[in-house]
Amino acid sequence: MMTILYEVHKNLYVNMTNRCNCACTFCLRKTKDHMEESNSLWLDREPTVKEVKAEFSKFDMDNYEEVVFCGFGEPTMRLEDMLEVMDFVKENYHKPIRINTNGLASLQYQKDVPPLFKNRVDTVSISLNTPNPEKYYLLTKNRFGLEGFEGMLEFAKEVKNYVPNVVLTTVDTTLTKEEEAQCRQICENLGVNYRIREWEE
Ligand code: SF4
Repeated sequence: MMTILYEVHKNLYVNMTNRCNCACTFCLRKTKDHMEESNSLWLDREPTVKEVKAEFSKFDMDNYEEVVFCGFGEPTMRLEDMLEVMDFVKENYHKPIRINTNGLASLQYQKDVPPLFKNRVDTVSISLNTPNPEKYYLLTKNRFGLEGFEGMLEFAKEVKNYVPNVVLTTVDTTLTKEEEAQCRQICENLGVNYRIREWEE
């Protein structure tokens, strides 16, 4: 069975792709064998936009505060499809939309992606991971190499012109206090929020 939409607390999560332009050392996708045994979020194939839209009718949307594009993969790997589903959600359910992303979409497509989030996305949460470009590369193994870090920060800076709430996140216990202070400074310089989230969100 394919899990396209799933509930976490009071939010409804959208899982459209398992593809990613990173290969993070800590990625949950690496445990996919284990997860397949337990009704996993691993998709045997990517659902079509039509299938994703149809899934929403199975849920009582009044129960959810936010619709979150996330899943085990990078949602922007299906950029156009994702935008279409976002429009569908806005039109039909008027819910706030959040996207959890690695912030590498503009590098991926070699074009300016943030303007496409205007009037679609209410919150962008971007994984900062570390204040250090080399460490960022070692952690994410992103396909853009050392340029990845700067590209992600550029994305964060620009997207705040189009999206009301932009948050950069790191994971609790993975950084020293000094590194966390550096991350906070980076966020202040960019004019975005900083959040230290719990492991395995
Ligand atoms: S960016 Fe997210 S989905 Fe992609 S490899 Fe890293 S943790 Fe996994």
